[in-house]
Amino acid sequence: MTENRPSTSHSGLPNRTGRQNLDPHLERYAARTAGMTASEIRALFAVASRPEVVSLAGGMPNLAALPLDTLSAQVAEIIAEDGLVALQYGSAHGIPVLREQICEIMALEGIKAHPDDVVVTVGSQMGLDMVTRLFCDPGDVVIAEGPSYVGALGSFAAYQAQVVHVAMDDHGLVPELLREALARTEKAGRRVKFLYTIPNFHNPAGVTLAVERRAEILEICREHGVLVVEDNPYGLLGFDGQTYPALRSTDPDNVVYLGSFSKTFASGLRVGWVLAPHAVREKLVLAAESATLCPPTFNQMIVSRYLATHDWKGQIKKFRENYRERRDAILSALDQYLPPGCSWTKPDGGFYVWVTVPEGVDTKAMLPRAVTARVAYASGTGFYADGFGSRQMRLSYCYPTPERIREGVRRLAAVLESEMDL
Ligand code: PMP
Repeated sequence: MTENRPSTSHSGLPNRTGRQNLDPHLERYAARTAGMTASEIRALFAVASRPEVVSLAGGMPNLAALPLDTLSAQVAEIIAEDGLVALQYGSAHGIPVLREQICEIMALEGIKAHPDDVVVTVGSQMGLDMVTRLFCDPGDVVIAEGPSYVGALGSFAAYQAQVVHVAMDDHGLVPELLREALARTEKAGRRVKFLYTIPNFHNPAGVTLAVERRAEILEICREHGVLVVEDNPYGLLGFDGQTYPALRSTDPDNVVYLGSFSKTFASGLRVGWVLAPHAVREKLVLAAESATLCPPTFNQMIVSRYLATHDWKGQIKKFRENYRERRDAILSALDQYLPPGCSWTKPDGGFYVWVTVPEGVDTKAMLPRAVTARVAYASGTGFYADGFGSRQMRLSYCYPTPERIREGVRRLAAVLESEMDL
């Protein structure tokens, strides 16, 4: 349960790289910076983006299907028709028309919301950071699935919250284990602030929370007085066009919902949102104001015009088909190439497969050898706050072509085989 991510030395003693820390500002940093460390995944980006390496490491959306000509015309129209508004500050709450459109999108997952309760953010990452800022004092506990989204773990660490992981199976978070974790944590006298969960097409696990479990999980959280933070950037990327009822749809007063246009439109625009119970929403607007004054007006107008004038559902369908083809490629390559003793999840949507390798193989130690063999993945430990995950890895199939995915898995299998021979 303890937060044992590597920490920055505050003493001037050698840090975890073994080198003397020569930062002249060392003694000035706030204590909370101790939890801020580079994510293993981001550190990988440089090597993994070399053209000869097949990268199954990053989770970059594949934007190739976007209608760039249409977008370029729309951007020009915004400037021509409404440039002085688009280039001006706006409210911290976000532009009203976009908040209304966001409510229509959330209705696809059964959510009935008022646009006033939506706060537009700079990606859902900002939403995560704001929510943690609002609720977590140092030492407070956040319950999260194990494994969990690395960017969320980063926010929790930055606010000195401790993470207690609860395991998943092929149907997502296991209610009984959640109950046990809450009881254990409370018995230890710790204050649990919220459950952070990614119910659909989980990053990194690739699994989806069974519909039958959803009411039970909400009930457990209510019983224990614990808020639910539902992070749902992949919910519309189910490969059969299927959607699931959002947790927020049945318990609006106890769920804060995070949404994003990063996976369904354009990640570079950095537009996401938070839907929160009314009182929380007011605090969120204040927190957002102090962080960014307002989300970018221009980008919000681009998203809003795109939603109003383009067949965005048809566009999401194209994205889904593209990801589905890649999911098929990775699952068949894993079946064909991976040595016995490996197992993996079978995603019905989203970007990721979570692989477990045989005992004795350490995916973090193996990574440099995999990169030498021209394939990269994200090792499992980055997705846990407690050092677990050394026998796991996340493979992202969202970006490379199906041929490259097959080749990447072939190379990975060869590295794994030689590792198992050691
Ligand atoms: N939550 C999850 C589960 C994610 O996978 C991501 C992005 N990879 C985010 C939040 C952040 O997304 P955004 O681009 O909206 O900040």
